[in-house]
Amino acid sequence: MQASTLLTGTLWAALVGALVGLMVGSFLNVLVHRLPRMLESQWARDMADWQAQQGGADATALPLPSPHEAATYNLARPGSACPACGHALRWYENIPVLSFVGLRGRCSACGQRISWRYPAVEISTAALFAWCLWRWGLTPTGWMWCGFSAALLSLALIDWDTQYLPDDLTLPLLWAGLVCSALGWNPWVPLQASLWGAVGGYLSLWTVYQLFKLATGKEGMGHGDFKLLAALGAWLGWPALLFLVMLASLSGAVVGLGLRFAGRMQAGQPMPFGPYLAAAGLLALLLGPQAWWPAVQ
Ligand SMILES: [Zn+2]
Repeated sequence: MQASTLLTGTLWAALVGALVGLMVGSFLNVLVHRLPRMLESQWARDMADWQAQQGGADATALPLPSPHEAATYNLARPGSACPACGHALRWYENIPVLSFVGLRGRCSACGQRISWRYPAVEISTAALFAWCLWRWGLTPTGWMWCGFSAALLSLALIDWDTQYLPDDLTLPLLWAGLVCSALGWNPWVPLQASLWGAVGGYLSLWTVYQLFKLATGKEGMGHGDFKLLAALGAWLGWPALLFLVMLASLSGAVVGLGLRFAGRMQAGQPMPFGPYLAAAGLLALLLGPQAWWPAVQ
C-alpha cells in the first residue's frame, strides 16, 4: 500500500471515530445522569416488594415511584430537557458540542448555564474514539478499545457523582474483556493473561480492603472498585495491575490533597477511587504495553 493511501486510510478512520465518538459521548451524558436514578428507583421498588412480602406495607415502607414515572424513565425516554426549567430540547439544541456553542452555553428557554461537562464528555469521547480507530483502523480491535474507553469514562463520572460503580457497567466490561481476548481481538493480552488479570484485580483490592478493615474497622473502598480493577485486569492483563493501582493511588492522593488545600474537601471525607482507576486504565491504553508490561517489547 502506498504511503498516501495509508495516510488517508488512517485519517478517514480517525474522522469516523471522532463523529461516532461525539454521538456516543452525547449518549454517555444521558447514561451518567440517568443510570444512577434508574437504579435508585429500582431499589426502592425492590425494597417495597420485600416489605410487602414481610407482612404488608407499613408506615416505614419507602414511597413507591408512581407506575407512570417508573414506566417512562429510562435511557431513551423522556427526551432530553433542561434540568432547571424542563424545557424539552429541540433536535437542533441537542447536537453534540455544536448546540452548546450555538446556545453560548445557556438554555434557550430560561437562560440557565449548561454545564461545561456535557461538551467536555462529548469531546473526550470523540478524541478517544478517533485515537483508537486511527491506531487500529475500522477493525474489531479498534472498536473494542472504543467500547473500553466509553465504559471507563461513564464509570469515572458516575463514581465521581455518586460514589458508586454500578454492576450494570463493571460486570459487562469484565466479561467483554475476557471475550475479546478469547476471540484474539486484543493485540496485547492473550486469554490466560486476561483471566489472571481479572482474578488478580479483584483479589488484590479485596485483600487491601479486608486488611484495612481489620486495622481500622472502616471500609476504605467499595466492592465496585474490586470489580472495576478486575475488568481492567481482563482488558490489560495481570502485568498491568501494579501499574494501575500505583498510578490510581498516586493520582488519587494528589487530587485529594489538592481538593483539601482548595478547601473543597474535609479531612476524612470519603473519596471515590473509581475515577482514578478508570483514568489509569485509559492512560494504560494510550501508552501501550511498553509502559506496563516490559516483557512485551
Ligand atoms: Zn431551561
